[in-house]
Order: sequence, then structure tokens, then C-alpha cells
Amino acid sequence: MININSLVRENVRNLSPYSCARDEFKGKAGIFMDANENPYGTLNRYPDPYQSELKDAISELKGIAAEKIFLGNGSDEVIDLCYRIFCNPGSDKALTFTPTYGMYEVSASVNDINLIRVPLNEDFHIDMVKVRPLLDDSNLKLIFICSPNNPTGNCFNNNDITEIIETFKGIVVIDEAYADFSEKTSFLGSLEKYPNLIIMQTFSKAFALAAIRIGMAFANPEIIRFFNKIKPPYNISTINQRSALKKLGKINQVRAQVKRIRQEKTRVTAAFKKLSLIEKIFPSDSNFLLVKVKDAGLVYNKLTDMGIIIRNRNSVAPGCLRITIGTRNENNKLIKALNTIN
Ligand code: PMP
Repeated sequence: MININSLVRENVRNLSPYSCARDEFKGKAGIFMDANENPYGTLNRYPDPYQSELKDAISELKGIAAEKIFLGNGSDEVIDLCYRIFCNPGSDKALTFTPTYGMYEVSASVNDINLIRVPLNEDFHIDMVKVRPLLDDSNLKLIFICSPNNPTGNCFNNNDITEIIETFKGIVVIDEAYADFSEKTSFLGSLEKYPNLIIMQTFSKAFALAAIRIGMAFANPEIIRFFNKIKPPYNISTINQRSALKKLGKINQVRAQVKRIRQEKTRVTAAFKKLSLIEKIFPSDSNFLLVKVKDAGLVYNKLTDMGIIIRNRNSVAPGCLRITIGTRNENNKLIKALNTIN
């Protein structure tokens, strides 16, 4: 059985967290003179530091108890907090599978953690032969698995992910930012079984709320306790909490949009297949397509000249461009533009 406490950095285990004025108060009150706020206005009070109302709504949607939920200022804050809770700067290691989401590396550098990059195989799946010998390194504390993966778009094999969670004695983070666009099952259902598992999701993609910066982490309450212990006290603003709550009240609209994006992805894929310019379209479980062309830089520049911005991923996946699915109208313009380059 994995002991979470023993995986946490000693200074984090021992520190006393900041105590918010409202943390100390229990019961009903109408007059607040405890937090040096201005008494006038509608946004004059500090936000709920634990976002209770929002967590209850997420809990209901996901079927996960609120005590197993942490909310960060985007998943990017969750990634940073994972390093800060579990990895000692200068000596510990983390591991991920490349090419993948760039913030695992940036956050590792900021925290002075050595990030081991294990290249994905040709089909962009985890190369288990390469990863198995690395798992019993006692300095390896954290593994980031991005599935569906950015920029490749695919989900990794469930069996490979499960083997890593079951073999590795540290913390496994599965980043499911794009899971709502996939038909494959989320690992949320495995939380009960694996105390060393953290699952990240976000309001930035399917919920169409990238501007409000709310990332979700689901994990056992012991891990959530450490996230709460070291986060900045008021990390999610009141306005953003309200926006997320409002969106959760319109979940049918969210589902309809996801369906539309998936239909558009199918239509764009069919149109791409007719273009000789595009040599390969990689399978996608996300709201974007990774495609291979002869000269990624050239296509990127020509599209930019026409006012269409895509992501040139040539540096991490040779010859590849990552294209987000837009509205029907935007997608038509992209297809038309690619036809002129073709
Ligand atoms: N994870 C992945 C895989 C992403 O691609 C992104 C953003 N593109 C994020 C996390 C960031 O999510 P957030 O907006 O919640 O910080």
C-alpha cells in the first residue's frame, strides 16, 4: 500500500499553511470585519478559498466526492503544485512521454526538477520497453501522462497506463484536458483503486472557458489536503467561480458543442484526405488534428499570411502541424486556404 505522506516533500509535510480569516470562523454571521476588506460594493469580499459551491456542482456532474476535488488557476497551477508537493528541487526527477504538453517541462525547470523525456513510439503510444527499467529509480517521484495527448491527439493504451500506475511507487498524473472529446473512458473511475493517482481535467476545452483559468484535479483526499495546504489562499476569483457554476448549469449546451466539434472534426478529416499536401492525418481523440506535410514551415507561413493561425509542431514532431477544430465557417476557410496551397 502506498503511503502518500512519505511521498510528500518534508518541508511541505511540516509547514503551517496560511490561515484565511474565514477559515477560523464557523457559524452564521452577517458582519465581516475580519479580512480588511472594503465594506462597499459587490466584489468587495475575498472569494471562497475552497470553492465549495463550485466543487459541489462538479462533484454532482462527475460523481466524485467534493473532498476528492482540487481547483487550480488552470491545470497549469495544478502541474506546478504537483512538482512543489512531491519533488525536491535539485535532486528529484519526474518523467513524461514526448512529444507532449510543454508545461510539464517548463514547470520542471522552474522547480529545478530533472524531467526524463521518454519518446513515444512511431504510433505515438508509450514505449513500455523503454519505460519499465526507469520506474524503480528512487529519485523518480512523478509521472505525467497526457491522454489524450497534446500535440499527437491520441489516447494512450489503457493497459500501458494501468501498468505504470500499478508498478510505479510514486505519483502518476493523468492529464485528461481533452477527455470530453474522446469516446474512450476516463480514468476517473479508477481513483478509488489507486491512491497514487491524480487526474487533471479543465474548464478550458470542452467547457469553452479558457479565459477563466480553472483546472480540476481529482485524487484521494490525502493528496487534495496537500494541494490545499500549499496553494495561494484565494487562487480562484469569485467572478471565475460564478462563471464556471453558470456553465455547469448549462451542461446540455456544453455537450451539444462537444458533439458539434466532433462532427466538424470528422468533416475536416474527410476534406484533408482529399488534399495531396497532407501526407498523414494522425488519429485524434481530441478537438484538434495533427497532420504531416512535406514542409510544415511553408504551410504554416502561407496560412499565417492568409490570417489563419495554426500551431507548427515541426520542432517536436517533424513535418507536423497541429490544427484546432473551429466553427464550421472557420473550418471552411481553412480548407479553402489549404486548397490554394495544395
Ligand atoms: N493540459 C493539456 C494537455 C493542455 O493541452 C493544456 C492547454 N493547452 C492544458 C493542460 C492547460 O490547461 P489549463 O487551461 O486548464 O491551464
